Amino acid sequence: MIIRKSPDELDKMRTAGRIVAGTISRVLESVAPGRTTLDLDRVAEQYIAEQGATPSFKGYRGASSRPFPATICASVNDEIVHGIPSTARRLEEGDLLSLDFGAIWQGFHSDSAVTVFVGGIAPSAEAERLVKTTEGALDAAISVIVPGGKLSDIGNAIETVARLEGMGIVREYGGHGIGRALHEDPFIQNWGKPGRGPELRPGLVVAVEPMLNLGEDETAVMPDGWTVVTADGSLSAHFEHTVAVTQDGHEVLTARD
Ligand code: MG
Ligand code: MG
Repeated sequence: MIIRKSPDELDKMRTAGRIVAGTISRVLESVAPGRTTLDLDRVAEQYIAEQGATPSFKGYRGASSRPFPATICASVNDEIVHGIPSTARRLEEGDLLSLDFGAIWQGFHSDSAVTVFVGGIAPSAEAERLVKTTEGALDAAISVIVPGGKLSDIGNAIETVARLEGMGIVREYGGHGIGRALHEDPFIQNWGKPGRGPELRPGLVVAVEPMLNLGEDETAVMPDGWTVVTADGSLSAHFEHTVAVTQDGHEVLTARD
């Protein structure tokens, strides 16, 4: 069931979105060779506590029987999503790092992700193309979020950009409605024909999140029950924003300055 948000609920999600954007910006300032992904988790944990908000992921149970143990997801190189921060994962220059973070403010979630190169240096032109294409796919998907559009327009926009650049598209995971729950209806697949599914109407809030691979589409889950990797070991990138459908277009609730 799709739950549209009232202006008052949207306001809480807007605040949650600002806190998410601020947290991600703060964590990005701390990304450097030699830091561990658990170091980054501590930065996020402290920042979110200072905002008086609650992390969305800590304690979350998805398909895994084990609750997610950390504040951020930190997924490196061939890890697509849901990487668990660890002292054992020390970042090196040129690593591809995807940060995913959600926050709860007065009972409402916002959710966002970004992929960067550690040290700001891409290890290859292909890796750089992967990141640019995935971010471009998110931008293209957001641009079709307008009242009167259809849900499948979002996935179609992502697939169109990904196909043009020959990137693999992760199939098992995708975008989602968001509100009182981190994951609400509808599920948003990152591919497909346009003009299908529910109509995009004001008050609908969605987390749009393309996950693209330099190699094939297939994924695998590591024995920790959470970390999703590319089956062929290729690099993967992930970008996400929480976006509200408005009367005359859309509003990105997790936009960073
Ligand atoms: Mg997310
Ligand atoms: Mg999400």
